[in-house]
Amino acid sequence: MPPTRNRAAVPEQLGFAGMPERLFVCTPSKLGAYLDCPRRYRYAYVDRPTPPKGPPWAHNSLGASVHTALKNWYALPVERRQPEALPTLLKSTWVREGYRDVELERAAYRRALDWLESYVATLDPEDEPLGVERVVAAKTSVLALNGRADRIDGRVGPAGPEAVIVDYKTGRTGLDADDARGSHALALYAYAAQRVFRRPCYRVELHHLPTGTVAAHEHTDESLARQVRRAEETATDIMAAEKAVAAGADPDEAFPTNPGSLCGWCDFRKVCPAGSTVAAKEPWTAVEHLAE
Ligand code: SF4
Repeated sequence: MPPTRNRAAVPEQLGFAGMPERLFVCTPSKLGAYLDCPRRYRYAYVDRPTPPKGPPWAHNSLGASVHTALKNWYALPVERRQPEALPTLLKSTWVREGYRDVELERAAYRRALDWLESYVATLDPEDEPLGVERVVAAKTSVLALNGRADRIDGRVGPAGPEAVIVDYKTGRTGLDADDARGSHALALYAYAAQRVFRRPCYRVELHHLPTGTVAAHEHTDESLARQVRRAEETATDIMAAEKAVAAGADPDEAFPTNPGSLCGWCDFRKVCPAGSTVAAKEPWTAVEHLAE
């Protein structure tokens, strides 16, 4: 069943002067940065040179290591996709930055290896995903959207072949179906994957490696269209803020701060007037429990 066309899938329109409107080029994480905090978006994507960031985070290092190990697992020939391959894969992709000390780093490595061993035991080595760390892209009347999905599976659903978006998670807390349903990034990947692979893509899954759980949601044409509309609205807000600054508006007003619980984890906390009043997290805070 081909994807249903909706308003968001209409090719770009002509602008007032007969010139094509410029599409807003973005990834889901770029849009997410603005939704979280417009000021953080400005620091990351508008201000040049980019303001100095804080030190690297251990949880990002851990996530990147596990993601790359899984990517490389799929790059192995089928007969070598065995648990014995995992220590070498993980060692060769291990990112060391952000840990408090070698002891915590070793504990994190051992836990990551445990997660990977449990996880690959649930996979069929013969399965070839449609894509691994695959970039998918789609255009709407407002957006030129692209993003890299952790994995896109080809499966057979009730209506025939379909694509399924898989996102790996390595954070402390487990995830549920609400997280899968509410994830803008997963919905936008599904929307783009329908167009790239020319097959239905409605199912999105969060694979939480520490607990071995899968949180899933089945989108519909309507729910995907809603998420795309929301992304378009965000892009429109960003473009309006950027135009206002170009026309002389105060950048601090065009991109206001949104202080809250995210500030402690924000790369730009030190340069942000709102964030600098918030207690800093240590770069290793989110992985400390792995040594317990
Ligand atoms: S420190 Fe907080 S308010 Fe400042 S940019 Fe970061 S998230 Fe936004």
